[in-house]
Amino acid sequence: MQLYAFDHSSLVLASHAIRDQSYTCPECHGFVRIRAGGRRQTHFYHVRRPASCRQHGKSLTHLQIQLHLKSLIPSLALEKRFLNRIADAHWDEEKIVFEVQCSPLSLLEAKNRCEDYLKLGFTPVWILHDRRYNRFRLTPAEEYLRSQTTTFYTDGRSFYDQFDVCHASKRVFRGPKIWVDLKQPQRKTLEPLFSRTWTLSFQGDLYERAKHDIGHLKKIAKRYQKRRRWAKWKGAYKYLIYRLLESSTF
Ligand SMILES: [Zn+2]
Repeated sequence: MQLYAFDHSSLVLASHAIRDQSYTCPECHGFVRIRAGGRRQTHFYHVRRPASCRQHGKSLTHLQIQLHLKSLIPSLALEKRFLNRIADAHWDEEKIVFEVQCSPLSLLEAKNRCEDYLKLGFTPVWILHDRRYNRFRLTPAEEYLRSQTTTFYTDGRSFYDQFDVCHASKRVFRGPKIWVDLKQPQRKTLEPLFSRTWTLSFQGDLYERAKHDIGHLKKIAKRYQKRRRWAKWKGAYKYLIYRLLESSTF
């Protein structure tokens, strides 16, 4: 489902569309119609299930986050086409593209999308829904995004950053949510911060907070790394004991 579709050559917002009229999807060019009523956000749905179309795979939660972003930053353009891609939200003045992700994502797709936007001079900012992301286990795409490009989480209502310690794709320590103001990108050169090599920070995020707490955060990271090392030794020790017991049975 999506918010925009074509009526011949002009883009139409779902809330301005006419019921029972067919429109075309900007991504797969399949027929779409509007669905409205109740407390649901008015949206376009594909009349026939397309073979592959990212717009079709979007959920109502996804659309609500897009609209929430638009309400925060009114100059955003939603569902804007970039060569072969449709960005969830595009901020032309700041050269930023917001990508919302509520469903599974492959590492290859995450990399391709980031690289495509960077080639066009736009910084991708990812918003991952914490219903699927920010869990104990990290997916390869999440690991890639949070280290390579600006990535925040959302609970559907607000956007937040977080200090955490991850080992072997597991989140072994999770700090509190740090609320981020997406209206205020901070244009300055950023030093690498733990595993992060971002180029863009926002007001209130970990880059800002870490300025005062870096010593404390480094201590936490070290403490949890140490704990992991001990866990490894404990495993090796257990294995040795078992082998010894095995060899001593007669
Ligand atoms: Zn489509």
